[in-house]
Amino acid sequence: MIRRLDPETRSKIAAGEVVARPASVVIELVENALDAGAETVEIEVGGDGTERIRVSDDGRGMAEADAALAVERHTTSKLSAAGDLETVETLGFRGEALPSIAAAAAHLELTTNDGGPRGTRVVVDGGEQATGGEHGKTVSPAGRARGTTVEVTGLFSDRPARKKSLASPKAEFARVSAVVTRYALTRPDVRFVLRHDGRETLTTPGTDRFADALLAVYGRDAASHASTFDASREVSAAGEAATVEIDGALCHPEVTRSRRDHVHVSVNGRALAEPRLRRAVADGYGTLLPDGREPVGVVRLRLPPAWVDHNVHPAKDEVGFRDADAVAEAVEASVRDALSTADLRRSGEVAMDLDSSLAPVEAASVFDDLRVIGRFRGLYLLCEADDELLVVDQHAAHERINYERLREAVESAGIDAVSVDPPATVSLSPTDAALLDANRDLVEQLGFRVAEFGGGSGSGTYRVETVPAPLGRPFAPDALADVVADVATGDDADPRTALLKDLACHPSIKAGDDLGDDEAARLVERLGSCETPYTCPHGRPTVLAIDEKTFVRGFGRRSGRLG
Ligand code: ADP
Ligand code: MG
Repeated sequence: MIRRLDPETRSKIAAGEVVARPASVVIELVENALDAGAETVEIEVGGDGTERIRVSDDGRGMAEADAALAVERHTTSKLSAAGDLETVETLGFRGEALPSIAAAAAHLELTTNDGGPRGTRVVVDGGEQATGGEHGKTVSPAGRARGTTVEVTGLFSDRPARKKSLASPKAEFARVSAVVTRYALTRPDVRFVLRHDGRETLTTPGTDRFADALLAVYGRDAASHASTFDASREVSAAGEAATVEIDGALCHPEVTRSRRDHVHVSVNGRALAEPRLRRAVADGYGTLLPDGREPVGVVRLRLPPAWVDHNVHPAKDEVGFRDADAVAEAVEASVRDALSTADLRRSGEVAMDLDSSLAPVEAASVFDDLRVIGRFRGLYLLCEADDELLVVDQHAAHERINYERLREAVESAGIDAVSVDPPATVSLSPTDAALLDANRDLVEQLGFRVAEFGGGSGSGTYRVETVPAPLGRPFAPDALADVVADVATGDDADPRTALLKDLACHPSIKAGDDLGDDEAARLVERLGSCETPYTCPHGRPTVLAIDEKTFVRGFGRRSGRLG
């Protein structure tokens, strides 16, 4: 429930300008989405961001009364009394972001749904004049699936001085991109999509694996040279002790950048451009780094809320710590420890070779005379190929094979469908229903035969008569909503592609499934005949290669087989 803060609490909140530039709008809207428990956050920017910023999430949304209050000053669902300031665990707490953004923009439109039958749209027009109270605000019903979208247009249109102080559109977008990247890397459990002028510039998969987020942001070179770590340190200040939990992923010292802004830190979930913490991370690398080079990594800190003061800076760039030096020392020591474990060094060396031997491999050559020689954890097939040991991710390989088979099947004859007997009843949100309406041919081509219940339009209830059964495994009728959403929001040029990718993953061998020897051999063979054997449909690698030279070096032998 959203309420208005009392004057005492308000007076304790750091005052100042929240909206300095387009990136500050993005920070506030992304933090609201994360506070709402979003699993996916999509950010769209037009031009330098003053044209248009739109952030949508699939979080818990707001009921109508809350949505109307949210754009007012000092209204928040996150604090109820001044005392809460010391224990606040959410990213927001001031209740100032939405009204400040509305005041700085010509137009703010918030569309939200908390899971009820219909959503709410709140529009605030007219910038400065509009924020004195109810004036300029309209509230109306709107169709939307659960979650919230905030669209801001004409930012700073009546603040010419502010607008003039902005850098070029490219530079302003780069700031936005930095902010989104920081969150994408410190929250790998959330899927982030960033678009600029309609072009997708960043997508993370939301798998909760640092390596996947690093892969999306920095590419395979950095991702394959990174190791995750997890540490816990005692700190104390004025006789009071606390535990700092530190985790993240550190790229090995051969991956460096010229600037320190590729060290991504967060404190209690808040991604920050904190120079002291970044320095502490770099200090942890110490002499492992070449002169003048900076590390790449993700470091997250968790401390008791009372040890952190998020209230020191209106734009929330920095935080205060009860003892900043002790925290910095804890970070430095954790990073140093993580980098000095023998384990990491060895995996570092292997990773180095993994990457260089992966890149130049030719499809035909590597799968030609490849022999499955073992299995690891029921997940990976170990294969011998020439002078390399190949490790095949069974699940990813299967997805790739399925995907290419599906694509072929759809291109020639469509996907097999099986009837659901008796037909299943599925209800779609108004938005999904509209999307189904607009994409019905495509959805049917994919194997769903769907009839509107009672024949009436817009009832939202459907009878699912057939479902796709790709490779003989039928979809659950409930998947209709996902499929409709996939078709409508697919980022690929052909809307079928996104769907095929999801279908491909559906009947895959699940982690831990045991394959017989013959099946394993057939899987690898089929992977070899794929058009794109080296990545799964979502872009993750299917095969890693370890060159024999790695073993020669690792075991201190002077040469290969005879050495
Ligand atoms: P704060 O985040 O400091 O509370 P804001 O002005 O950013 O203040 O938001 C006001 C309130 O609106 C929040 O407390 C929250 O209840 C609600 N809200 C804002 N954005 C979202 C969102 N994306 N999803 C759900 N609720 C939201
Ligand atoms: Mg907020």
